[in-house]
Amino acid sequence: RQEAYVADRDLPAITLDGVAINLMINAGLLIDVPQLAATGAAGIGLFRTEVTFMVAHTFPDVARQREVYGRVLDGAGGRPVVFRTLDIGSDKVLPYWHRDAEENPAMGWRALRISLDRPAMLRQQLRAMIRAAGGRDLHVMFPMVALVDEFDDAKQILDLELQRARDKGQELPVGVRVGAMFEVPALYWQMEEIFRRADFVSVGSNDLAQFVFAADRGNAQLQGRYDPLSPAFLRLVGDIVRAGQACSKPVSLCGEMAGDALEAMALLALGLRSLSMAPPSIGPIRAMIRSLDLGRLQAHMAALGQQRGPDMRSSLRAFARDHGV
Ligand code: PEP
Ligand code: MG
Repeated sequence: RQEAYVADRDLPAITLDGVAINLMINAGLLIDVPQLAATGAAGIGLFRTEVTFMVAHTFPDVARQREVYGRVLDGAGGRPVVFRTLDIGSDKVLPYWHRDAEENPAMGWRALRISLDRPAMLRQQLRAMIRAAGGRDLHVMFPMVALVDEFDDAKQILDLELQRARDKGQELPVGVRVGAMFEVPALYWQMEEIFRRADFVSVGSNDLAQFVFAADRGNAQLQGRYDPLSPAFLRLVGDIVRAGQACSKPVSLCGEMAGDALEAMALLALGLRSLSMAPPSIGPIRAMIRSLDLGRLQAHMAALGQQRGPDMRSSLRAFARDHGV
């Protein structure tokens, strides 16, 4: 089966009824980048920059970061790469950075919160990205945005670094696109504001589901209790997609859901047209897309109405079986 996926890697990800889907990979290490060519993905929809920090023995300096980001862009060969700024804290620890234990680390001092409280770290990271992307496009994305003000503050720091590069006469990125991850439910009530500010939004469904259901994503005892295919979660994602469409801003999804064939089917039916996933999922998801009549699926899902998660899952499975998806 894997061999068949390799043979199909140059085939377009288009549904039977002609809807094109943008398939991207999630990556975090340099050795992940060749997966772009191996899978035929359109780009890197999520580059987890913290992985570079996690595998190091000490804080990577600007030069080291610039080297990594530059090599990622080189390897991508013009395909877009979305660099997510540091998402440390929670389950992602740096062995050389000792911090006080937290009661609720997933909801604690992590991700953009650290970056804004330690702006020197964020500035160094953005400086490295700007240097690496001189003469090419730069996509930057901020994780765990809870307030639009945080996005504004982070973007201001990016602007400072762009100005610094300009003042130094360095070659600037050709185009700079700045995105927000939709992972914290509070953004739902700031949707118009975030879409007005951001160039794109990516739904981090792993964290978003964790916070929506108040269920630790790493707790095995809770596995399967809260289905992302339940009406609450699908309605939420559908609202985000519609808000993006209303503002003509691209919306993508880069959580585990994107790489699960049934869940990805539901996401496409909700209107998502861009998915980022672990590289081994690209082949199966492309095959699903190429055998899917999306219009028919949308009609099928509309007829289902507000079914419970397990029911929605079995209905989607039955649809896939009956229609040869
Ligand atoms: C997510 O939360 O869905 C996500 C893609 O980010 P991470 O898994 O790195 O937290
Ligand atoms: Mg996340």
